[in-house]
Amino acid sequence: MANTKYIFVTGGVSSSLGKGIIAASLAKLLQARGYRVTIQKLDPYINIDPGTLNPYEHGECYVTNDGAETDLDLGHYERFLNVATSQANNVTTGRIYLSVIEKERRGEFLGKTVQVIPHITNEIKERIQILGNSSDYDIVLTEIGGTVGDIESLPYIEAVRQLKWELGDENALVIHLTLVPFLAAAGELKTKPTQHSVKLLMESGVRADILVCRTEYHLSDDLRTKLALFCNVKKEAVIESIDASTIYDVPNLMLEEGLDTITLEKLNLSAKTIPDLKQWNQFIQRHKNPKQEVTIGLIGKYVELQDSYKSILESFIHAGAEKEIKVKVIPIHSEHIHPHTLESKIGHLDGILVAPGFGERGIEGKIEAVKYAREHNIPFFGICLGMQMAVIEFARNVLGIHDANSTEMVSNTKNPVIDLMEDQKKITDKGGTMRLGAWDCKLTPGSLVAKAYKKENIQERHRHRYEYNNTYKSQLENAGFKATGVNPETGLVEVIEIPSHPWFVGVQYHPEFKSTVASPHPLFVAFVQAAYDFKNKKNTKN
Ligand code: GLN
Repeated sequence: MANTKYIFVTGGVSSSLGKGIIAASLAKLLQARGYRVTIQKLDPYINIDPGTLNPYEHGECYVTNDGAETDLDLGHYERFLNVATSQANNVTTGRIYLSVIEKERRGEFLGKTVQVIPHITNEIKERIQILGNSSDYDIVLTEIGGTVGDIESLPYIEAVRQLKWELGDENALVIHLTLVPFLAAAGELKTKPTQHSVKLLMESGVRADILVCRTEYHLSDDLRTKLALFCNVKKEAVIESIDASTIYDVPNLMLEEGLDTITLEKLNLSAKTIPDLKQWNQFIQRHKNPKQEVTIGLIGKYVELQDSYKSILESFIHAGAEKEIKVKVIPIHSEHIHPHTLESKIGHLDGILVAPGFGERGIEGKIEAVKYAREHNIPFFGICLGMQMAVIEFARNVLGIHDANSTEMVSNTKNPVIDLMEDQKKITDKGGTMRLGAWDCKLTPGSLVAKAYKKENIQERHRHRYEYNNTYKSQLENAGFKATGVNPETGLVEVIEIPSHPWFVGVQYHPEFKSTVASPHPLFVAFVQAAYDFKNKKNTKN
């Protein structure tokens, strides 16, 4: 077996403490010291993947190159590390059980009673070690979803206990993320919840090696001593994680606290090299010191929840930093857009992005927004459903096909400009059956998109069932609505543009899943630039 080191990140006291960001930040520091690192998330829910969850339940569903529908934390991992993740990086309880039950049916446990221990825990251990055994990584970080003490995370904690025992302390490490709340009435930070959650972990036989304490105020020396003594860790292993103004500050905060050095010391790895964060810090500098500003409307139907469009929002941060432009993103609910509210809702914007989505709710508002952007020369970026809405809008309002629609919205529409693919028509199962993952696309030389990418052959990630209907292609193209990106094997249209408009681009794929700090997505960069140019032009006119 490869000599991989394992780091487990557990959470205590409360959910939403940001285990994913802490894991990604530590991974970033270890990577910046030259280690090959990956991060995995274990989710204790029974869905096979989050693909069947509503964004209100679980935030955005992130998609990997190999077509896995995953937790949004994988997006953070990729954005921080600039290393692609895969199906192996996200495992749910549903997937674990499915695999064990399939093995049972095949007779792999013949004669035995199949139980949580050892069968489920063995399956979890195997899934954790798949990445380590690949010899692609020196260190695998595994984030255990949920909070210690939850009934559903028990098998995971037991798997961690066993692995720690089998691999030894210098090969497996537990980082416990907790909350040190400030009680206003007492005027004090309180350590008791952390003590209790460490004790709860201990009841399952797992000792925390490092404590990362989320806090609104700095931890005093006395408080660190107290936490160390009562939680059974070295004082250097009490790491403060103070609230940060941006998640991208967390790696530096963890560096200052020495999270990477104590980790390396415990894993018996060299900490001699200095982390190379030059590129990372340049990005932060640019992000924090913008020279200009643009206002972009994000039009979708899940706007109440920030996490629903996580990757889009982060892509704007990367692109904004690249251009030294602050991108103010205004979330706009598509159900609130009507002809009489258009002017006030979106008239002032420098750019309009129509978001991905599913189902009928809110689509007429999206179509109105596309029309407004097209007619007023406002830079427009349509992603997935947003691109499909642009096709419908053009067919209706320019070609005069008034009943043009997607069969997703009206299954028997007479003019299905967006339609189900032939091979999707027979599919009835909902989970994992969309067109998923990375697909090739050939861009038209000289098009806006080819100029943005600076190449003509690209690969982008998909997650949809419906497609641009090629029956309408020549009509659309003749009227100036160009297909400038096509799948070379299937002929499916992946990108549309209106060359007579300053910047009107729709993509069937999800560019937001490939934007990282080290490599901002070219289409987001080009869109931000177009919004800036539009704003400037507007101002000079006035
Ligand atoms: N609902 C559309 C489809 O399935 C678009 C999906 C999306 O925006 N991700 O094709």
